Amino acid sequence: MISVEEALRILLANLPEPGVETVEFRSSLGRVLAEDLLATSDIPPFDRCAMDGYAVRAEDTRLAPVELAVAGESRAGGGMPAGLEAGRAVSIMTGAPVPPGADAVVVVEQCRRSADRSRVEILEPVRCGDNIAPRACEARVGDPVLRKGHRVGPSEIAVMASFGHTSVPVYRKPTVAILATGDELVEVDLQPRPDQIRNSNAYCLAAQLELLGFSSDYLGIALDAREDLDRKITAGLQRDILIITGGVSMGEYDLVRDVFRDLGLEILFSKVSIKPGKPTVFARKGNRLIFGLPGNPVSALTTFECFVRPALGRLCGMKKPELPRMKGTLLTDVKQAPGRTAFLPAWVFWEGDEWKVDPLPWKSSADIVGYTGANAAYIFPKQLDSLRRGDRVEIMLLPDFFVRQR
Ligand code: AMP
Ligand code: MG
Repeated sequence: MISVEEALRILLANLPEPGVETVEFRSSLGRVLAEDLLATSDIPPFDRCAMDGYAVRAEDTRLAPVELAVAGESRAGGGMPAGLEAGRAVSIMTGAPVPPGADAVVVVEQCRRSADRSRVEILEPVRCGDNIAPRACEARVGDPVLRKGHRVGPSEIAVMASFGHTSVPVYRKPTVAILATGDELVEVDLQPRPDQIRNSNAYCLAAQLELLGFSSDYLGIALDAREDLDRKITAGLQRDILIITGGVSMGEYDLVRDVFRDLGLEILFSKVSIKPGKPTVFARKGNRLIFGLPGNPVSALTTFECFVRPALGRLCGMKKPELPRMKGTLLTDVKQAPGRTAFLPAWVFWEGDEWKVDPLPWKSSADIVGYTGANAAYIFPKQLDSLRRGDRVEIMLLPDFFVRQR
C-alpha cells in the first residue's frame, strides 16, 4: 500500500496542463492569473502631493520660520499647475500634481496663512522630497504589476482597475461532477426505510468544492450494480473531474473499481495508507481525472481535502492549494493501531503563546456528527501507536478554520 506522500506524488505527476480563459476583471476574484499584467501608465502619473499643505522649494524653508508669497493653488483634478518660482509657495491638496520647480510639501499644520491670504508663514524647514510621491514611484509603464500565477484578491482587482485591465487572462476552472453510490442511499427529501440512509456525502463534497471556489454537478445516486454504475460513470466522464463516493472497499458489492476497468480507465493508485480513507482510488482517462472516495462520510471529507484539493487547486493555477499546516501541543493522550497516517478531528485554539490541540472523541470514520466539532485534523504519524499530552503534533487546518467558532 502506498503512503500519502507517494499518492500525492502520483497525483501531481498526472495532472493535465491547466486551461486559460479571459474574464471580466470584476469576476476574477479568487482566480489565478495566467499571464503577467503590465502597467499601462506610470503610477502616480505625475509627482503627487501626499498631504494637504504648501508646495515649496525646500531650500526656501531652510531658515524657517519664513514667509513666502502664495502663488495660486493645485488641487486634485484641477489641471496641471504652472511652475513655482523661488520665494513662493502654492497651496496644494492631497492627490494634486506638485508644480514643476517645487520639491517638497509643507503640511498645513506647519503653516500660518496671512489674514489677506496673500502670504504663508512656514514654521519648520522641510527636506527635499518631503510629502511628495514622485512620478512612477509605484509602477512605471511596462512594469509587470501582477505576475502570472498570482491569485486575485481585492487589492489585485484594484490594480486591474488602476491600469484599465477590464478583462484578464486566468486559468480555467475544471468542470466537476459528483456521483454517490450505494443501494442503501436515498435522497435527502425522502424518508429512508429502516435499512436505508440519506445521501450526505454528495452535499458535503459540493460544499467543500464551493469553499475551494468550484461549482459542481450532482449526478445522483448509482446502485451497486455494474450497469447503473457504468451508465452514470460514463455520464460523469463528460466533466473534467468526476468524484465518486462509496463502492471502493472490499465488499461483494463494491464494484466501482471493476467498472473503472470495464470503462478502460487507467487506475493510478488504488489504496493509500491513510486513516480514514484507505480504499481511495485515483484514475484517469485522457485528461479526465476520476476520484473514487470511500463512502464513510468522514473518509470522503478527509480524502477530498488530502487528494482532491491539491489536484483541483493546481488545475486552476494555484501553486500550493494544500490546506495549511502548523504545529500545536496535544491536550490529551491518544492511541492508535500503527500502520497508517491518521488525520483525526480536533479543536485547535490559541492560548498563552501556542496552539493547543484538543482531540475530539473519535467514534469512527462514519461519525460526521462528531466531526462538526472539528476545526482541524491532527496528524498521527503512521509508525507511532501513542501520543502523549504535551507532545507537539502537526495539524492540518480545515478550510473554514479562521471563521469557525466553538
Ligand atoms: P462504502 O464505501 O460504499 O462501503 O460505504 C461505507 C459506509 O459509508 C457505509 O456505511 C455506507 O452506507 C456509507 N455511505 C456510503 N455512501 C454514502 C453517502 N453518499 N452518504 C452517507 N453515507 C454513505
Ligand atoms: Mg457502498
